[in-house]
Amino acid sequence: MIRLACVVGDPISHSRSPRLHAAWLARHQISGAYLSFRVKKEDFETTLRRLRQAGFVGCNVTLPHKEAALRLADRASEAAQRIGAANMLTFTAAGLEADNTDCFGFLENIRARFPDWRPKRVAVLGAGGAARAVLAALAVVGVAEVRISNRTKERAERLALEFKATAVTWEERDAMLDGCDTLVNTTSLGMTGRPPLDLPLEALPKGALVTDLIYDPLETSLLRRAKERGNPVVGGIGMLVYQAVPAFERWFGQRPRVDQRIFEALAG
Ligand code: NAP
Repeated sequence: MIRLACVVGDPISHSRSPRLHAAWLARHQISGAYLSFRVKKEDFETTLRRLRQAGFVGCNVTLPHKEAALRLADRASEAAQRIGAANMLTFTAAGLEADNTDCFGFLENIRARFPDWRPKRVAVLGAGGAARAVLAALAVVGVAEVRISNRTKERAERLALEFKATAVTWEERDAMLDGCDTLVNTTSLGMTGRPPLDLPLEALPKGALVTDLIYDPLETSLLRRAKERGNPVVGGIGMLVYQAVPAFERWFGQRPRVDQRIFEALAG
C-alpha cells in the first residue's frame, strides 16, 4: 500500500517539507508520497474531509491554518494544547489527532549542536506563532527568565502573561540582550525578500547562543554578525528537519535518520 501524506498552507510553494520527506522515503525505501496543497483559509475544513476520504494518513499544517487545525481536531497532544496551535494532523479510526512538533524541533535542533545547552536567561524577538512554540519549549527546559520583545507591543505582553515572561518594548530590544545566555529570533525579519533585522549585538555576552528560526537564507545576517563576534550560532533549517521526524515516523512507520545528507538534499 502506498502511504500518502502532505502539507497544506497558503502560500505553500516555498515549503521544503515535500523535498525533505521525499528524501527520507527514498533513503528508507518506503512506498509512499508526500505532496503539498495550497489551501485557502475558508477551504481548510473541507480539504481535511477530502484528504481523509482519499486515504491520506496525515498532513502537516502551516500558516494560516495552525489554530484551525487544533480547533477541528477530536484529540490534541499536550504540546499542541500548550502552544495553542497544531502543525501535524493524523487521520485515525478514532478521529482527527492534532500534535505540535515545533517545540520538539526547536529543542532538538539546538541540542544536536550543543548538547550541554542549559539556558537560564533568554531573549526572544517576535510574538507570532513560532514564538509561542519557542516559549513553550523554554518552559519545558525550565528557563529562569525569558524576555520577549515584539514590534506590536500588545502581542508581546499577551505572550509574556501566558508564559510568565517579561515584555520589553521594541525600542529596547538591544538593551534586553544584556546578561542573556541565549537569543532567539522568531520574527520574519532577515528572511529572503523581507527587511533585515536591525539589532545591535553589543550588549549580548560573547558566550551567548544565537539561534534564528529563519532558514531562507540558511545563514541570516543575524547569525553571520553573531558568528563574527564569536557567539555560537544555530540556524533554522535544523528545526524544520527535526520537527518533521515525529510526523514521518508516525505516518511512514520508521524513525528517519537526521544526518548531513538530509541537509544536503534540502540545500540542493
Ligand atoms: P507570524 O506568526 O506571521 O509572526 C511574524 C513575527 O515577525 C511577528 O512577531 C511580527 O511582529 C514580526 N514582524 C514581521 N514583520 C516585521 C517588521 N517589519 N518589523 C518588526 N517585526 C516584524 O510568523 P511565524 O509563524 O511566527 O514565523 C516567523 C518566522 O519563523 C518565519 O520566518 C518562519 O519561516 C520561521 N519559522 C521557522 C520554522 C522552522 O522550522 N525553522 C518554524 C516556524 C516558523 P508583529 O506582531 O508586530 O506583526
